[in-house]
Amino acid sequence: MGELLSPARCAACDERLSKRASFCAVCASQVEIDERAVTLGLGPSTSIEACAGALYGGPLALAIHALKYRRRSDLVGALAPLALRALLRSSSRPELLLPVPLHRGRLVERGYDQAALLAAALSRHARLPWSPSVLERRRATPQQAKLDRQARRANVLGAFAVARSRAVEGRQVALVDDVLTTGATVSECARVLLDAGASRVSVLVLARAELPDELGHGRAREDGARASGSLWAPQAVANDLLLGPR
Ligand SMILES: [Zn+2]
Repeated sequence: MGELLSPARCAACDERLSKRASFCAVCASQVEIDERAVTLGLGPSTSIEACAGALYGGPLALAIHALKYRRRSDLVGALAPLALRALLRSSSRPELLLPVPLHRGRLVERGYDQAALLAAALSRHARLPWSPSVLERRRATPQQAKLDRQARRANVLGAFAVARSRAVEGRQVALVDDVLTTGATVSECARVLLDAGASRVSVLVLARAELPDELGHGRAREDGARASGSLWAPQAVANDLLLGPR
């Protein structure tokens, strides 16, 4: 519950806030809410849907960077509403949330796993179960950020495994991560989950790097059908958490 009480400071510029919100008014005005769902192709006849809370850039990029590289795990509370937004926009109804696994070596280095913290926070917001142990990373991979798309795909091939198939068999699962770029990592995770028997895999991220017509062999599509809210969770809650009560 404590995480819902967002910090009294802006997650991007650290400005003191007079009301409960994730960002100050100036930074919030520069957070570009993502209105699209992205389709990532896994093969000739298989694709998965990926939804983001907002587009990567500006103040949001600063906050996510601080979360990942500057030991600001406390920012998860301020950023999790963006993952909730992604979930509300998604056409899937996941039964289980799975963070994209971090390699143990990197976990030790960083001290925490930001995707797991996000999945846990989203689990509480959406009242969905999550598990950090269903999907595992078998080997460390070089930082994806330094690679081009082709290299990213090769880099993650065989890097993930489903540790407990029974947990995903016949179930809709959602992968949770901070940023979606080319989608190579989540696509590989989705592939092993579908192989393990998951009935559907979707992707929920805080932010999507805008790469029009560039996302693998996937493509972006307008997602008008889901834009008008949801029957099972109030969109207004996500709005208020992100931008502060109106
Ligand atoms: Zn700010």
